[in-house]
Amino acid sequence: MYRIKIKSGFCGAHKLRGYKGKCEALHGHNWLVEVEVQAEELDATGMVIDFKELKDLLNEVIVEMDHKYLNEMVYFEKVNPTSENIARYIHETVSGKRPDLVLGKVTVWETDSSSAVYSG
Ligand SMILES: [Zn+2]
Repeated sequence: MYRIKIKSGFCGAHKLRGYKGKCEALHGHNWLVEVEVQAEELDATGMVIDFKELKDLLNEVIVEMDHKYLNEMVYFEKVNPTSENIARYIHETVSGKRPDLVLGKVTVWETDSSSAVYSG
């Protein structure tokens, strides 16, 4: 199995509903996002997918979140915009745009030391 991984990031604001602690107040993060794609066989050029193509695809998704208040996005109206749910949102949205790709882990880093992973 081959796996490739790319990274990108975005700045966004959120607050967590039903949470007692600092994160119930409006605040922001510089989220780092990693997306893996896997394939059992390579294409004719010897790639799983062109890194640039995958980066462009991820950036299409995260541009919708960059410098935004995530709680106002339709997806996060009822679902809390935690790193876990952001990872799931990115996984589902990238998969929806390219159902031919087999996505592996989507990792969302909220800080240098804290990340959440969703793998479908
Ligand atoms: Zn937060």
